[in-house]
Amino acid sequence: MIVCKSKREIEYLKKAGALASWTQEKMAEIIAPGITTREIDRLAEDFIVSNGARPAFKGYRGFPATVCTSVNNEVVHGIPGKRVLEEGDLISLDVGTIIDGFYGDCARTVPVGKVSDEAERLIRITRESLQMGISQACEGGRLTDISHAIQKYAESRGYSVVRDYVGHGIGRSMHEAPQIPNFGPPNRGPRLRRGMTLAIEPMVNVGGYEVRTLEDGWTVVTVDGTLSAHFEDTIVIDGATAQVLTQP
Ligand code: MG
Repeated sequence: MIVCKSKREIEYLKKAGALASWTQEKMAEIIAPGITTREIDRLAEDFIVSNGARPAFKGYRGFPATVCTSVNNEVVHGIPGKRVLEEGDLISLDVGTIIDGFYGDCARTVPVGKVSDEAERLIRITRESLQMGISQACEGGRLTDISHAIQKYAESRGYSVVRDYVGHGIGRSMHEAPQIPNFGPPNRGPRLRRGMTLAIEPMVNVGGYEVRTLEDGWTVVTVDGTLSAHFEDTIVIDGATAQVLTQP
């Protein structure tokens, strides 16, 4: 069942979303060649805790860190560690927060130093495909209008969208109904209503859409080894438009 949130609940979700996006800004400030993914994770955790919140991913099904750091051909769920970022890498940062029992969830992909034109274009198209999805999140529409808009945009630019991982409802749990695929025909699934809060998160690959999980049980990579990018925002349907909650 999809629960529409009250005004009060949306205020809490806005706080959690704002902190998640602020944490993204803090991480982006220190991204540079030579830094380890563990250092990024520590900064994020300290920042979230110092703001009176808790990291949502740490301990979630045993995930050992605050941020998912996914580099280059890694799609999502990369575990921070000793890996040193190099000039030309792409890194997806996915972070979740909990404030007073409410969740915020957002992801950004950022370049490390100077990156290739292809990498830069992939980042831009993935960000824009998220915008295309959000533009369909309006009262009276159907859920897969979002899915279809994302797929159509990414594929029209020559990329593929990952099938195996999807967006989700969000609220007092990180993952609520409905699941939000980033592909498929429009005009299917539940009718969109005011007060629905959704985390929309396209994962876009330069090559094929197939992915697999590494032996660590978490890190998802592209099967063909090509680059992947990931953007995510938490939004609330606010009538004819959606309001993005994961902004400062
Ligand atoms: Mg998410």
